[in-house]
Amino acid sequence: MRTKIVAGNWKMNKTLEEGVLLVKEIKQLLVSSPFTQSAEKYNIIIAPPFIHLKAINDLLIDDPFISIAAQNCSSEEKGAYTGEVSAQMIKSTGAKYIIIGHSERRNYFNESNAMLAKKINLVLSNNLLPIYCCGERLEERNTNIYFDVVKKQINDGLFHLSSLEISKVIIAYEPVWAIGTGLNATPQQAQEMHKFIRKVVSDKFGEQIANSISILYGGSCNAKNAKELFANPDVDGGLIGGASLIASDFVKIIQSF
Ligand code: PEP
Repeated sequence: MRTKIVAGNWKMNKTLEEGVLLVKEIKQLLVSSPFTQSAEKYNIIIAPPFIHLKAINDLLIDDPFISIAAQNCSSEEKGAYTGEVSAQMIKSTGAKYIIIGHSERRNYFNESNAMLAKKINLVLSNNLLPIYCCGERLEERNTNIYFDVVKKQINDGLFHLSSLEISKVIIAYEPVWAIGTGLNATPQQAQEMHKFIRKVVSDKFGEQIANSISILYGGSCNAKNAKELFANPDVDGGLIGGASLIASDFVKIIQSF
């Protein structure tokens, strides 16, 4: 059975004080949540800004469900790269995951698939788990090249990995036109693309590995539409932006499986 995952990407939001408060609220709401009694495997991931990682990880040290992710890491191992944060530094905070290739990194910071492949290697070599984002822009959907675009992102970012390495990757499909716009993919559009991504992984690494990988949907997923999106057989959860900043909404999304 694939792990069900809800990951909250805070982006560049929340002071440390606000972030600590938000995590405390989420924990409090989850204590009485029915999913904590379930036999199914759930992972909840919170991705705060780098400078909050250690403090927020300390709050969650004994929590059986919630782990911490960074939103990005450097493509270099260490050295004279002012302002960068390495995978090794992230590991030392207690974080377990790193989001790689978010469309905001690809678009605003020109991160190429080749650079992202280097980052994936650093995440894995530091015994962390990557959440690798892919997704097409609106013009790519409108011109019907969206399958090709996503296939290339998966191919260039992940196909150099071994079978053991790819089985540690979480993939997040995030159509760029749906991120922060209030326009989510329909459940049919999400299922169609998730099934396609699983087939792309299967053609390269085999069905067993493809069936074991969690593929998350991201793009205006919220407390109202999560249930419909998560009901699809190839949608294993969500990568949530805006709605992860409100404790009650984030917990409702977690309870949408
Ligand atoms: C995201 O940035 O990963 C995201 C999905 O954002 P939002 O949920 O706000 O669309």
